[in-house]
Parts: sequence; C-alpha cells; structure tokens
Amino acid sequence: MISLVIPCYNEENNILPMYELILKTFKDYKKKIEIIFVNDGSKDNTMNNLRKVVNDTKEIVKVIDFSRNFGKESAIFAGLSNATGDYVAIIDADLQQDPKYVLDAVNFLEENIDYDCVTFYQEKRKDGFLMGFIKKSFYRVINAVSEVKFINDASDFRVLKRNMVNSILDMKEHYRFSKGLFSWVGFNVKSIPYEVKERNSGTTKWKFSSLMKYAIDGILSFTISPLKIALRLGLLLFLISFIYFIVLMVGLLGYNDPITSESVIILLILFLSGLNLLSLGIIGEYVGRSYVESKNRPIYIAREILKSRDK
Ligand code: UDP
Ligand code: MG
Repeated sequence: MISLVIPCYNEENNILPMYELILKTFKDYKKKIEIIFVNDGSKDNTMNNLRKVVNDTKEIVKVIDFSRNFGKESAIFAGLSNATGDYVAIIDADLQQDPKYVLDAVNFLEENIDYDCVTFYQEKRKDGFLMGFIKKSFYRVINAVSEVKFINDASDFRVLKRNMVNSILDMKEHYRFSKGLFSWVGFNVKSIPYEVKERNSGTTKWKFSSLMKYAIDGILSFTISPLKIALRLGLLLFLISFIYFIVLMVGLLGYNDPITSESVIILLILFLSGLNLLSLGIIGEYVGRSYVESKNRPIYIAREILKSRDK
C-alpha cells in the first residue's frame, strides 16, 4: 500500500482538486492507496471540505484535525505516524507537486531495492535573485557547521520506504527540522528533479520571518557549534595574553624595558577575559552534550537486518 501524507493549512479550495487528482493518478494502479490529510489548524473551510471528502469517498481516507496550527513539521510527523503503507509519500496540498511523481518514485524503489527514499528537487528554482542568494547562503552555513549534509534545493516532497519512516518516527524531538531529520537518519536516497507547478489556489504560507525562524531552527537542531564559539575565543585570548606576557618579559630581562602600569592592565584584561570565555566555553560543552542527550536520538539505525534461517 502507498500512503500519501498531505499537510494542509488554509487550503480550502485545494482539497477537492487534490483528492480528485490523486484518484485520477492512481486509478489503474496495482497497489492500494491511503490518503492522510492533516489539517494543521486551518482557519478557513478546509476542515469542512475534508469532512465532505471522508463522507463521500470509497477510498481509504484519514483526516487528522489539529487543535491549532502546529506547523508543517508537526503535520508531517502526525501523517507519518498514522500512515500504514509500505511506501509513504509526503506531498503538498496546493497541487504544486504532481502525484504522478509518486508513482515514478514507487516504481523506482521497487526496482532498486538498495534505495530507501526518493527526494524530489526543483530543477528550476522560481525564487528571485535575493531569495535564491539567501537560501544558498543558508545551506553553505549549515553545511559548514553541521555533522549531516543538507542538499540545496531539496524539498519536503519525498517518498519513503517503511524502514525509513520508522526511523524518522524514532526521532522524538520537538523541534523537528525535517530536512535535517531525513538527512540524519541516513539510508540510500535518490534525488530526482521535478517540475513545480503554480499554486492551484491560495497563497504561500512562508513569510520572510518564518523562513528566518526555520533557518535558525535548522542550525540549532543539528549542530552545537555555536556553543563552541566561546571556548575558541577564550583560547585565542589566552594565547594572546601569554604571547604578550612573553613580549613584556623579554623586554624587561633582555632590553631592560620597564613594565608600565598600562601594559599590566592590558595583560590582565587579556588574561581575565580569556579565562572568562574559557569557563563559559566549558559550560557550553556540558550544555551542548546534555542538549544532544536530551533529544534521545537512536544510537544507530540499521537499514536492514539479514539473518540466516534458524538451524
Ligand atoms: N502547511 C502546513 N502548516 C503550515 C504551513 C504550511 O501544513 O503551518 C502546508 C501547506 O498547506 C502546504 C504545504 O505545507 O500543503 C506547503 O506550504 P506552502 O505551499 O505554503 O509552501 P511553498 O510551496 O510556498 O514552499
Ligand atoms: Mg506550495
């Protein structure tokens, strides 16, 4: 079975067209499908329209109605937890992502058993120059500081096999930055380009401020490098104060230069601020470790476990 997880936030005019497009796409397909809509606290008629779909349908349709807007990441989590298929697709409600690609992805995964996931990326980005530049810079920064790699242009549009879905669900953290989670769990992922369509109806939910928050969440969830800044700076100041001390001593002993009170003050400031930052950095290391521990991520993830028959 293929499960389609569809996060919806104020998508009243897209629900029915999306549902019909899915039915049309999968009409003659050999596998059964399950459609899971997650209503992420919409303030328009989305829920009423979903109710109509559930009441009238002959297919397997589930609707998870959030009590308020929890964000797309939470909607994806809810959808994945309720999906029962061997293949699970995450797809937007606004018809920008054609479900026909899900078919291609499932066919690909069936033919290539060493792959666990297909992720779609936009061949031609529609962003303007400034947005494109900001996004590129974000990926450069996050890839430089993070232990996992983030692919520029990767979208949330993907198809996962059951093993990968289970691993994603094993990540119980609250700040869920999907792009990072998908990359953290590993597995063999195939990137395939797709063509983004225009939004069917309504407007994008992203504002500049929400994109900034998203970027900060991404960096903070996947690296503790910012906490190490104090430690490095402290070490640097310490080193400078040490060199300055040597310079003063060489001047005093070798050339009889007297040590002035200004130079003592400079030395003390360098030394003490170095000490301060170093102590902060040490605390940072502990905070960082307890942060990592508190996420309680799995210690390892096995892609597959092979076993010979019991003798
Ligand atoms: N979405 C959601 N909760 C939110 C924001 C967005 O479930 O808080 C859904 C939205 O309904 C859509 C998908 O996430 O199905 C992608 O949103 P959008 O089309 O606004 O993003 P874009 O395509 O512009 O990147
Ligand atoms: Mg969209």
